[in-house]
Amino acid sequence: MKNKFSLTGISSIAIHTAHNNNDSYAHLTPIYATSTFVFDSAQQGMERFEGSDKTQIYTRWGNPTFKAAEETIAALESFGLKDESGNNLQLKALLHSSGQAAMTTMFLSNLKSGDAVLSHYSLYGGTYELLYKVLANAGIKIIIADLRDLNIVTETIKKNSTIKLVHIETPANPTMQCVDIEAITKIAKQFDCIVTVDNTFATPYLQQPFKYGVDFVMHSTTKFLNGHGTAIGGVLLGKNVEQMNTNVWKWYVLLGGNASAFDAFLLSNGMKTLELRMERHCENAMKVATFLEQHTAIKKVNYTGLKTHPDYAICLKQMKHPGAVMSFELKDGLIGGKKFIDNLQMCTRAVSLGTVDTLISHPASMTHYSVPKEDRLKYGITDGLIRMSVGIENCNDILNDLDQALK
Ligand SMILES: *Cc1c(COP(=O)(O)O)cnc(C)c1O
Repeated sequence: MKNKFSLTGISSIAIHTAHNNNDSYAHLTPIYATSTFVFDSAQQGMERFEGSDKTQIYTRWGNPTFKAAEETIAALESFGLKDESGNNLQLKALLHSSGQAAMTTMFLSNLKSGDAVLSHYSLYGGTYELLYKVLANAGIKIIIADLRDLNIVTETIKKNSTIKLVHIETPANPTMQCVDIEAITKIAKQFDCIVTVDNTFATPYLQQPFKYGVDFVMHSTTKFLNGHGTAIGGVLLGKNVEQMNTNVWKWYVLLGGNASAFDAFLLSNGMKTLELRMERHCENAMKVATFLEQHTAIKKVNYTGLKTHPDYAICLKQMKHPGAVMSFELKDGLIGGKKFIDNLQMCTRAVSLGTVDTLISHPASMTHYSVPKEDRLKYGITDGLIRMSVGIENCNDILNDLDQALK
């Protein structure tokens, strides 16, 4: 749809961006459940392959249902941002079958054997494994440091001239550590490093990394963007549209990590309520964190909305609200934690995050099971740590459930 005036809010953008015309005047972009697209003549087929005809060719290379979701996410991540010449920032998004697939395209299209990647030590478990089990195998060196210390960032990049890419996850799973996107990007750019950000926990509603000059942003759309837990998905966004359409696109189509039209449709629908959901998620999370912090059975709460969190200030600087994920430890450790999880009556016992219902999991035995114990402990992932993704239920019911389970 061509807007006659500029939309001024995230919800309007999330709802109207993908409102494209289609032949049957369907209100929503249909689910194009098709592997391939027909051409009327040999000439038309040639024009599509050579690029002068932009119609889709084959779903591994793109599909109209993907495109609707891709345009919406690109509009959300670039909302209100300008490029270096002062024009509205243009982004290109590629929809993948999972966050892992999006990350794989992102890393492999930017790194080759002999290059090194620098990242923070508190990372999503799947990211950690992708780095150490797949990229390391391809001859890429993995360097992990505390990116909250900017001197360490500078010294590490200075000392390792092969570092080509700095990967940031903030807030990071499951201790909610935040790193300063703007400061790290500034340092990385002095050394011509590519900066990539996993923006899954924040969503573009809470945090827009492109504002600070990063090169790529990826999401597991499985989480808050979809919001309802109906599909696994991922997206990779880049600000160099030419590069996204050539080099990155080559890796995307050859690795074959494309989305499915059904999942793309579910994602597009979910994103329409992103702002409403995030507001409620964050409002509930703040109440839950405050409740837990004051509870006598709780030893520690990791939530960046609390002033006691070491990264409270960085979170405040770059995020609209502190998000909806937190972790906490019971005074009687693992045994108390297990009992608490078993006692829950409404909250859902499951890994994943960002769904409308409150999800509770145990990182040491679940998401971070494959991370060696001594590393886990270094990162603050103790045996008794419990992770919670606060949902949009009526908050009193969440609090009542937690209260009865803690007794
Ligand atoms: C879930 C998640 C991923 C991986 O995404 P999948 O959709 O499960 O492949 C990557 N990063 C973060 C921060 C995540 O939460």
